[in-house]
Parts: sequence; C-alpha cells; structure tokens
Amino acid sequence: MPRANETSIFTEMTELAHRTGAVNLGQGVPDLAAPPQLLADVADAVLAGRNQYPPAAGHPALRAAVAEHQRTHYGLALDPATEVLVTTGATEALAAACLALTGPGDEILAFDPCYDAYPADAGLSGASLVAVPLAVAGDGFALDLDALRAALTPRSRLLLLNSPHNPTGKVFMPDELAAIAELCVAHGLTVVTDEVYEHLVYDGARHLPIATLPGMRERTLTISSAGKTFSVTGWKVGWVSGPAELVAAVASVKQWLTYASGAPYQEAIARALGTVDAWAAELRATLTAGRDLLAAGLGAAGLTPYRADAGYFLQADVRPWGFGDGLRLCRQLPELAGVVAIPTSAFQRGADAAPWLVRFSFCRRHEVLAEAADRLAALADAPGRGPA
Ligand SMILES: *Cc1c(COP(=O)(O)O)cnc(C)c1O
Repeated sequence: MPRANETSIFTEMTELAHRTGAVNLGQGVPDLAAPPQLLADVADAVLAGRNQYPPAAGHPALRAAVAEHQRTHYGLALDPATEVLVTTGATEALAAACLALTGPGDEILAFDPCYDAYPADAGLSGASLVAVPLAVAGDGFALDLDALRAALTPRSRLLLLNSPHNPTGKVFMPDELAAIAELCVAHGLTVVTDEVYEHLVYDGARHLPIATLPGMRERTLTISSAGKTFSVTGWKVGWVSGPAELVAAVASVKQWLTYASGAPYQEAIARALGTVDAWAAELRATLTAGRDLLAAGLGAAGLTPYRADAGYFLQADVRPWGFGDGLRLCRQLPELAGVVAIPTSAFQRGADAAPWLVRFSFCRRHEVLAEAADRLAALADAPGRGPA
C-alpha cells in the first residue's frame, strides 16, 4: 500500500519555502500564461451553462480532437468512439490503468527514478513496482537494457513508461524505444506510456510514442493531458488512447473513480488541441530560455546540471557543494541560498539510487528564475559553504 508519508517531502519543502521566503523550485507548478483563447472559451462554456456531467467517456469533441492529434502528429489511427477515453488528468488515467490491468502478485516495471504516482498506483492495485534504474551516461540518462531484461519475471505484467521523462528530462531515443518494444512483445507485456510532456521537447530532440513501433499499437495505452501542454495544471483534464479492449478496461474502473469531470473545459481543450503546434512552439521557447537561465545560475554556483531535453526539471549532482545527500542539502538550501528544490531520492525506489541528485524546476517566469539563479550564483562566494 502507498505509505502515508510518501508525499511528505513536497509538503515539507513547500512549507519551508513559505516560512523562509525562498524561491520555490520544488514542485512542478508552472506560473506561465495559458492560451488566452482557451481561457475565454472555458469562461464562455461556464457562463453558457455547460456545467453538468459530460459523457462518461468524455465530450465527443475532445475525443475526436485527441484522435486527430494522434493521427496528425504521430500517424496513429484511433476510433474516437471506442479508442479514446477522457480522464480526470493523466493521474486518473494512470491509476485506472494500473487498477484495471494489474492486481496482487503482478509486477509493474518502471524506470527509476520515476514519477511518484507510479509506486502509489501499483500499491493501490496490490501489484508491486519493480524499479529499473536508468543509467547515467555522459551528461544525461540512458536505458540500461540489461537491467530491464534482468527485471523481467513470469509475474511482469505491465511496463509503465514515461517519455519525455520526469524527473530526468530524458527523451527516450528511437533505438531505446525499439529495444523496449522488442522485449515487451517477446514477453507479452502491456505498456502504459505517460506522455504528458509530449509537446515540451527541446533543442533537436523529438518525441516518439512507443505505440507507433511495430507490434506495439495493440499492447499500448498512451496517456496525455492538457495540464502541461497548456500550462493549466489545475484543470485536470487528461486522456488515454489505445486498443478498444484496453481502453474499455480502463473505463470500467474510471467510472467508479470520478465517473466524469471537467465539462466546460473539455470542449475548449478540444479546440485548443487542434491548434496546439503554434502554442507549443512559443511555450518551448519560454521553457528553453528558462532552463538555460537556471542552468547558468547552477553553473555559476559550481554545479553542472544534466542535460534536460524535455519537461520542467533540471537534475544536478550536488556533491561539488560538499553534499552526498540531496535531502540534507534541500533542507539547508533555503538557509544557504534562499531557494527550494526537491531531492531526486523522492522519485527513487531502486537500491542503486544516486542520493546526491537534486531536482530544480524551471517552469517559472523568467524573473523568478533569474532571481533564483542570482541567489544560487551567490553561493559560489559564500564563505564556509560545503559539508556541515
Ligand atoms: C504532471 C504529471 C502528471 C500528472 O498529470 P495531470 O494531468 O495533472 O494529472 C503525470 N505524469 C507526469 C510524468 C507528470 O509530470
């Protein structure tokens, strides 16, 4: 079962930020603008009275928009009537998928570090989460295929993939996805893939849904959400798509979790999804510049963050600051620098975890990141910094 204290580090760090006035780069809550047309469309829908239960599977316009999005972006053909389900955020889709497809005795594989909902979802369904460590490779993170192979057992039921990946900012490469797909086909694994950062991929990197690989469409549930794409994390509108029988299994659980939600948001998001490319290009430019601002601040303070090709977060090894334990550093960082971050150990389950990693979020306005960067850079001149 999920442990009662599992989210305590987020609560602790948020409270620390409030108490000390530190710049909070802990949780991934963006303070960036959402598309004005989307906001206006939601306001109109609320005032027009579209405030009652939407269809359990989601507004037909949103289901159609998701199918169209998958077709135009990735060449995936989906029947919006049976192969797309709207959920209360990606979070509900993940939980409902785990509950629908796994139970006691089953093993769910996930790359480590992983998003904190995954072990909780495994716990809810009575399955166990098997953490497969990602390897540190140069300035980034890589698939360790031998570790994945070694983690497979006759009880392996599901692979929970997350690309682009939180917390590392890794985008799985086509050859990595091909190797994963081959193993999943050979072992009859179902894949649940969390692609909420699909549009937040930077520089030359490219998002490739694993469902597009040979043999994968029929065994993959693909999850995404409006929260990250449109900077509206408080709305909790997500969706899952895939073969009809897998989507139906998720729907049978989802109906008893929330039944349906977000009526006035769904139609508006359907419209926004149709024109997502122009919006996403702008958001990527903002986030890339924010990432680079923060990276420069960390660099000036003596840390070299890992490459983040996607998402909201930078990882840094804090050993150059004299800390072997990211949690201990994070508890002192508000005092030392006036900044709050989250120890990556909050996302690590594996035995070979690297406790010196710390996660800094850059989904913030540039003035906030510039302030954080200045504060961090000042650490370089602070007398007596280092191991306490
Ligand atoms: C933010 C996030 C989610 C949650 O998405 P919601 O749509 O807000 O429920 C799921 N997975 C990952 C990896 C995330 O970073």
